[in-house]
This record gives sequence, C-alpha cells and structure tokens, in this order.
Amino acid sequence: MLQQARQLLQSYFGYSAFRSGQEQAISQVLEGENTICVMPTGGGKSICYQIPALVLPGMTVVISPLISLMKDQVDTLLEAGVPAAYINSSLSAVEVRETMEAARQGEYKLLYIAPERLESSAFIEELKEMPIPLVAVDEAHCISQWGHDFRPSYRQIQRFTENLPQHPVVLALTATATPKVREDICRLLKIDESNTVITGFERENLSFSVVQGQDRFAFIKEYLAKNGKEAGIIYAATRKAVDQLYDKLKRSNMAVSRYHAGMSDEERASEQERFLTDQSAVMIATNAFGMGIDKSNIRYVVHYQLPKNMESYYQEAGRAGRDGLASECILLYSPQDVQTQRFLIDQSLERERIPRELEKLQLMIDYCHTESCLQSYIIKYFGDEALEPCGRCSNCTDSRAVVDVTKEAQMVLSCVIRMGQRYGKSITAQVLTGSKNKKIAEFDFHTLSTYGIMKEKSAKDVTNFIDFLISQELIGVGHGTYPTIFVTSKGKEVLLGEQQVARKEAVQTKQIAADDPLF
Ligand code: ADP
Ligand code: ZN
Repeated sequence: MLQQARQLLQSYFGYSAFRSGQEQAISQVLEGENTICVMPTGGGKSICYQIPALVLPGMTVVISPLISLMKDQVDTLLEAGVPAAYINSSLSAVEVRETMEAARQGEYKLLYIAPERLESSAFIEELKEMPIPLVAVDEAHCISQWGHDFRPSYRQIQRFTENLPQHPVVLALTATATPKVREDICRLLKIDESNTVITGFERENLSFSVVQGQDRFAFIKEYLAKNGKEAGIIYAATRKAVDQLYDKLKRSNMAVSRYHAGMSDEERASEQERFLTDQSAVMIATNAFGMGIDKSNIRYVVHYQLPKNMESYYQEAGRAGRDGLASECILLYSPQDVQTQRFLIDQSLERERIPRELEKLQLMIDYCHTESCLQSYIIKYFGDEALEPCGRCSNCTDSRAVVDVTKEAQMVLSCVIRMGQRYGKSITAQVLTGSKNKKIAEFDFHTLSTYGIMKEKSAKDVTNFIDFLISQELIGVGHGTYPTIFVTSKGKEVLLGEQQVARKEAVQTKQIAADDPLF
C-alpha cells in the first residue's frame, strides 16, 4: 500500500518523496492505527490524510475549525483532480443539502466539516449512512484545555467517531502540541501514545533572536530600512498597537498593510490580498492574521511585543521562510509587555484557565531571558529531543564573555528568603537597591541585612537579573493574582554554594521608553 501511496503523491501532488514523518503517519493510518501527527506549520500535515483518503475506499471526513482554510484546501484538491467538498457556515441550506446528496452518491474522497456540525444529530445520522474509513482531526489541540485555542465542539468528536458503524481510524494533526496537550489529545481521541509521529520542529533556515533594551520603533525603522523590500510580518499584541505602528510607518512612506479583527471583512481581505500579491512588503497584524496563509517567501517575522505563549510564538514566527531560504524571527522584548499579557489573560478567560495560561506566559518570558540556544529552548518546550546549539540564534552568536555571578545570585536569593517569599520582583529589587519607597519602611524591609546590598545597581538592572534567575529556575513565580517569587530547590543549592551561576557579561541597556506610545 505504501508503494501505491508514493505513486499517488507523485501523480496527484507532483512530489517525488515523502517528507520526514509523512510516511510513518500514512503507513500507521493505513494499518488501521489511530495516530497523532505533530509537525510544525508548513511541515506537510495535509498529505498525511489526503493520501490515505485516496487509498482507502469510501469518504474521509476532515474536521477543521478554519473556514477559509477549508475552502483553500478543497480548491487545491479539486485542481489536483481529487474530488472533495466542504460543509460549513458559509454555505446556504440548499448548498449543504446538495453537498450531502453528492456525498451520499459517493462523489467525494474527502469531506471537510466544521466541528460545530457535530452538534447536529441529524447531520451525524446522515454520515452514519456513508462509508467513512478515516476521520482526520485538524488543529487537534483545540480539543485540549491546555491548548491555546480550546473549542468545546471538539469534545463531540470522540462520540461521533465511536458511533460511526465502520469505526474509522482517527488521525489527529497539530502543530502546537506540548506534552500535556498531546496527552489530552491521545486520551480524548483514544490514540495509543506510542502512535505519536512527531518531527521537524527544528527549522534549519530560521534564526531566532530576542532583542531587549532598545527603542522598538527605532529598531523597526532601522530594520525596515535594511530589509523593507522583502516580505515580512510584524506582529503586535493589540489592535491599537497595530493601528499606531501602521500609521507611523505609513507616514514614513512605507508600503505597509495591516490586519486585525477590528477591521471590516472587506478591508481585511483587501489588505491580505495586497500582502499576498507583494503590493505591500510589510504586514502589520495581530495574531488574527496568518492562519492558513500560504506565502512562502516571508523573510522575517518580528514580534513587536511579547506573545502570550510559546505555542503562539512558534506558530507565528514559523510563517517565515516556508520556502526554505534563510529567514529571521525577532522578538522585541520589554518587561512591561508582561503586564499587557497578564491583563489580556485576566480579561479574556474563564477563571479556572488563568493559572495555566500564566504558567505558559512565564515560559514565554523565560525564553526572552535564557542565555542558551533559542532554537533548542523551543524544541525542548515542544517535547522533542534536545538538540545541539543551532549556531544561528542571537544567543549562539553572542560573543560576550561569560562571567561568574554566583555572589550576586546569592544576594538576591537570600533577600527573597528574608522577605518571606511572599512578594513580587519589583519590591525585591527595591529592597536590594536600598530604595526609600514608603512601602519598604511599612514592611520593615529596611532593617533586613540584605537591604541596599546591591545599591550600586539600578532597580531596573536588578529586576532584569531576577528575570534571569527565573529563567535559570533558581527563582520560581507563583501564579496567584499577584506574581510572588520564591527560591526553588535549585536556588537553595546556589545559596549553599553547591552550584555556580554564570551569565553573559552585562550589556549597557538603553531603556525601552516607558512612554512608548505603542505600548
Ligand atoms: P501544514 O498543514 O503542516 O501546515 P501543509 O500540509 O499545508 O502543511 O503543507 C505545507 C506545504 O508543503 C504545502 O505547500 C505542501 O504542498 C508542501 N508539501 C507537503 N508535503 C510535501 C512533500 N512530500 N514534498 C514536497 N512538498 C510537500
Ligand atoms: Zn542557537
């Protein structure tokens, strides 16, 4: 059957070989094993169910949450000569009926459906009449509360597949599965965890950097002056930030587009079109932009602000360099962004999800503070094997000398303990730098032996150093409404002198202006 699969790959899609992971996923599916396939965006997940759909008799059902993507996929399949259709809220009742009738006649090899359809029992009854050998669940992380895009209707999928008379094979696909999400997907869709196919998280043509301590707008202007002719995306955290950056760049006569959920459908479509057809090189957008966009020559993705977690970051940054050519992913980090993201999390979610999201935000912040390889950090985050340092990222190419900061670390750690491990970073930094802040006297912190022991440093530098200690897991952060810090067991070893702490030589940081109008 694999032989046949290879021929189909060539004859329908024009590719001569499978990419890593595709062949394994396809052969597991053809052997009737429920499978989870974890590959980064652009890794080639669609082929993993499209080829089995062609091999197996009957009609494969693909569950996908993205209406625009469904249409694109179906158009591409039809062009390739594969009979396919979709059913979602963009169709009229008549169109739905016609499509279902054609499906009943066996006219399609693939039928894409929106997950909400599964809430209609009439619809499910109709599908029960059809031979369905395979159900592909795209964006499968939507089934997990740990994922970044939980959709309650995904919880219907398991009942749906179990009720189909043929007991189809289930293939779950996602780009963003951390080990926890993967466990959820496997448990909820009855996939044996040993049937996990996970590959390709390293993107060898991408170089990651974190830029801290620079004026963001000045950075962007300078960057675009150099790279502005190439296609690129700048992601900002809020609509307001998108609009402001757009206006500013437009005033400097740059060919920019913008995209966010506050614009009308027509505006969004035309801005997207301008970008896709290279009429404007730069797209400034919120995270609403990019799902299902297949533009291969994006040379850079800049994050103007901190994203909410590593899943979002890697998915967005991963839109660079799909053509395999060298591309850059730059994250502009300012500690103030943490407040924005905390606020957004606090505003948008049900209470019980907040601690989890804060935990993920912390791992995003750690990414900004780590001094080891950024690509390796990402790979480790997604649960893939640890890698050799990539040699391309801003940490791998950072030639600053490493200095021993064990003594400073001990000062901070002992201060955190003396303060009772019940306070936040900034007040700890104030105590260490000997601030005259009223609150400090109120709590009697000025009587601590650690009061003012780092007074030659600025509170900002000390806060930054605390962030570094957090990224090294010497200090932990509580996830209550107010983020308090505490000393971890690894931190205690440092206090006892059992562990050394090394850090890249400090750079003189120019402050990101606190009055940055785009913040
Ligand atoms: P994903 O769903 O993982 O984001 P897609 O399935 O959209 O990725 O595939 C990304 C791109 O890679 C598409 O343009 C697709 O045609 C191409 N592709 C997939 N498999 C192969 C292959 N075996 N050889 C060459 N190109 C491939
Ligand atoms: Zn690296």
